[in-house]
Amino acid sequence: MKTCVRARIVGRVQGVGFRPTVYRYATQLGLGGFVCNGPHGVTVEVEGDDQKVGAFFERLANEPPRQAVIADVSTEVLAGKGYERFEVVESESDGDASVHISPDLAICDDCLRELFDQQDRRHGYPFINCTNCGPRFTIIRDLPYDRDKTSMAGFTMCEPCDREYHDPRDRRFHAQPDACEKCGPRLDLITADKSNRESSSRPQLVRVIELLGHGDIIAIKGLGGYHLACDAFNSEALARLRQRKHRPHKPFAVMFRDIETLKRHCEVSEIEEAELLSVARPIVVLRWKRVTPTLQPAVSPDSQTLGAFLPYTPLHYLLMQSFDALVMTSGNLTDEPIVSDESELPTLLGSTNSSHGPVADAALTHDRPIVHKCDDSVLRVVNGKRQFFRRARGFVPNPVRFAVASPHILAVGGELKNTFCLARDGYAFLSQHIGDLKDYRTYDYFGHEIAAWQKLMRIEPEVVAYDLHPSYLSTKYAERHPAAKKIGVQHHHAHVASVMAEHDLHGPVIGVVLDGTGYGTDGTIWGGEFLVATRTDFERVAHLKQYPLPGGDKAIEEPWRMAASVLLSEGLCEVTPKLRPIKEMIEAGFNSPLTSSAGRMFDAVAAILGLCDVATYEAQAAIRLEAIADARVRESYRFEVLAQGQSWILYFGGTIRGVLEDKRRGNDVSVIAAKFHNSVAAAILQTCLLVRVERGLETVVLSGGVFQNELLLQRTVEALQAQEFKVFTNTLVPPNDGGLALGQAAVASARMKSELEHKPCV
Ligand code: ZN
Ligand code: ZN
Ligand code: FE
Repeated sequence: MKTCVRARIVGRVQGVGFRPTVYRYATQLGLGGFVCNGPHGVTVEVEGDDQKVGAFFERLANEPPRQAVIADVSTEVLAGKGYERFEVVESESDGDASVHISPDLAICDDCLRELFDQQDRRHGYPFINCTNCGPRFTIIRDLPYDRDKTSMAGFTMCEPCDREYHDPRDRRFHAQPDACEKCGPRLDLITADKSNRESSSRPQLVRVIELLGHGDIIAIKGLGGYHLACDAFNSEALARLRQRKHRPHKPFAVMFRDIETLKRHCEVSEIEEAELLSVARPIVVLRWKRVTPTLQPAVSPDSQTLGAFLPYTPLHYLLMQSFDALVMTSGNLTDEPIVSDESELPTLLGSTNSSHGPVADAALTHDRPIVHKCDDSVLRVVNGKRQFFRRARGFVPNPVRFAVASPHILAVGGELKNTFCLARDGYAFLSQHIGDLKDYRTYDYFGHEIAAWQKLMRIEPEVVAYDLHPSYLSTKYAERHPAAKKIGVQHHHAHVASVMAEHDLHGPVIGVVLDGTGYGTDGTIWGGEFLVATRTDFERVAHLKQYPLPGGDKAIEEPWRMAASVLLSEGLCEVTPKLRPIKEMIEAGFNSPLTSSAGRMFDAVAAILGLCDVATYEAQAAIRLEAIADARVRESYRFEVLAQGQSWILYFGGTIRGVLEDKRRGNDVSVIAAKFHNSVAAAILQTCLLVRVERGLETVVLSGGVFQNELLLQRTVEALQAQEFKVFTNTLVPPNDGGLALGQAAVASARMKSELEHKPCV
């Protein structure tokens, strides 16, 4: 019997070779019909023997294109149309898009083979790609995903490329960034003095390899922006990079030639290897083996971990033929957005009107514009689960599924490590890492990307969610937004909700949030919080004892101030001339806001142990404290969980006394650091047990930047699970403020839903 079926397929189905796959399956089964990209995804009509039509859909479901994600298929049976053959037809015009845009994809094995095949016409071409690989999100201006709506629009295909592009049997059928040496993007080498520009691609690559070999620092244009590259084994080059980037200690990421070379330097588990080799090719934080003793101190001086990754563009593969390892760090200055455009190159190469000298000695650029800046993603595997430090290239703009249908929502995120989030139709799209909004270029970029994403996702926000901190620049942005409805979400509630949204939890849960700072509902700075939370509301049931933060933000940069504050408050130190002004500040209540921050407790202990007086990057004190801790030590110090009114206070006075006593006795810092970590984990457990007795809650959600401390996270999860708590953490978005926007969107969505349900009937 003959039948004709139309299917609409929704999800990540464009830019992933979907139509050629459909074409292949349909023609192999002798079916008639067509396939096309539309505003709602892909539309397929197939006509033929009903068993064969069934076989077609079964095969598509079982063997979809490698990079496709089918979210939903709706089918209807049509009257026979008498199709004589199967065709790929031009895209339907654009409307309300529910197409999910693909993230950028690492080069595939087929393209890699061609890249190094002397006989192939693309041999050695640094921009080779196909429907299974190459740039996506970073080149897309609009939907549907067609070449004229990408930054490839300016390149006219040569005859052989055009033939491949229009041949449904070809791997490059409708591969929008498809190109070759003749018709596509080209490399260009720019030296700081602008002399020495050379023409064709290959000699330039040779020259760049020479320069890197001599210890030069080269800005190299990648998928989402420039990297600053130098030879990872050249300590002089590294020292120069640190000095020029004003970055004395913060770790650099290292790109290794291949997985074998990487494994010689780092310990790699099976899961970590899968992450490293995945099409997202993130930077994975791994344990360093120290085979080359000179390498580590220069690259990652504060800890035994290393952010390592593998080549992901053809250009990387060509470069890495000549090096075992290159430092590849984001091409920017501290807090500024990553440089992605040639007009911004003076930032890196130096210019007469910039305030600093050159950071790079030369730049290897190309003429394919970057539409969206996008840093490398950074993650780690803890307890077999993924933990993001930074979510960007390779993962953005993959959505997080929302359990509740939502109106169009914009959540503007926090101020540091900003990301924003757009939500509609049960999906939340979290932006790439934007950065620190206090830098005006970053703030500009924030506004620019929100506008670009709204257009791309066809989202016109009816609701804007924001952090309660009145002076966050993201909050001020929200205030000015024209949307009718604004929803303020408390910082730590948003952290908890980000985990709830990821795991489809609706609560109530016990939310444990340990972070640096977040604005509390009482106007003080929170940061060591236990919330009983649902998606819509929360109650603060416990928190760390508050201490003054002498100097405000200055105390965050200078951990010794926090140590002084804690020691003075506990009466545990003499007032030396250095401490006198701190004491006076605190007593006068001058610029010394109270904080329950857990991050500051780690700062204080690290400073007491002499590990970090003044930090040169965020969380440096805590990172050093963790790095030195001996994980074999199981003892802990005394602490108290004190009832105060309706809530509990976690009081670490006994712990601080223990730290001082051990230090005075000359006990090893590695033991003291471990005992401190254990004490915090034990106090978390104790508090959760108390909350369980009172509220009968079994589910604990852990979030906040302090849980990026692997030792603390492992100890806490272990302790909670041993007492049969169900424990959830962030695995899709960062636990730091980079995940805040997802939580804000989840809370706003839930509040809108409950508002609709509880609308009084008139
Ligand atoms: Zn490919
Ligand atoms: Zn061509
Ligand atoms: Fe936070």
